[in-house]
Amino acid sequence: MRQKTASARVKLNEIFTSIEGEGILFGTKTMFVRLAGCPLNCHWCDTPYALPMDSGSDYSIDAAKELISNSLHPNTYKVNFTGGEPLVQHEAVIELAKFVKQKGIKTYLESACHDTERFAKVLSHIDLVKVEFKLKDSKVVDEKYYGSLLASELDCLKLAIRSGKITYIKVVVTNSSSLKEFKELVHEVFRVAKQGEIAGFIIQPSYRIDEPTLDVLFGFYDAVYPVYDQVRVVPQLHKAIGVR
Ligand code: SF4
Repeated sequence: MRQKTASARVKLNEIFTSIEGEGILFGTKTMFVRLAGCPLNCHWCDTPYALPMDSGSDYSIDAAKELISNSLHPNTYKVNFTGGEPLVQHEAVIELAKFVKQKGIKTYLESACHDTERFAKVLSHIDLVKVEFKLKDSKVVDEKYYGSLLASELDCLKLAIRSGKITYIKVVVTNSSSLKEFKELVHEVFRVAKQGEIAGFIIQPSYRIDEPTLDVLFGFYDAVYPVYDQVRVVPQLHKAIGVR
């Protein structure tokens, strides 16, 4: 009973519509539903304001649905459930994603994939999945927990592919990211995913923090290209045009 009450509410940091600036669907008109709270700690995180749970206003699920409806622009391509880390409030994501799908709009999950069980529960309500892999220099978790985070990311990739979702991979790289570690990651990823099973492999350079040089980016690109020639280096394009 207590869990039901908890799932009937959501803490939302913000809802806004912008041009998608990341990944394989950059350029699409997208509504961002940013849920509050994230237990992780990436040093290049560009939404630090959304990390605490109390960074969000508290809504009933019905009020959040109304907010989404009232904020929805015409011709919106997709709704991104983002954060913070949306899996922190996975039950609310499920309810809101169902609502968005009923409107005939695609749902998109932007998660750090740190919780396989919650990811699996949300997945059936999601059309498009970004599986993000964090390198150690992201400082996302203490180094001792890095192996278990990687295992969880790989499990989420497996689940997304098996469920037939449009799935792509993103890795943020900085000038300090280890090419050796990246190559090992690429090896692990393509043990799980066959070429035709993913919709993209995006290398995203960090922005204004330890930005990688062109030569460094070539190193990462060249590590993927022989196994997956659809690899792309895509910076955060929304920042280039000065929008959120
Ligand atoms: S997982 Fe995402 S929201 Fe959480 S600290 Fe890292 S970049 Fe920020």
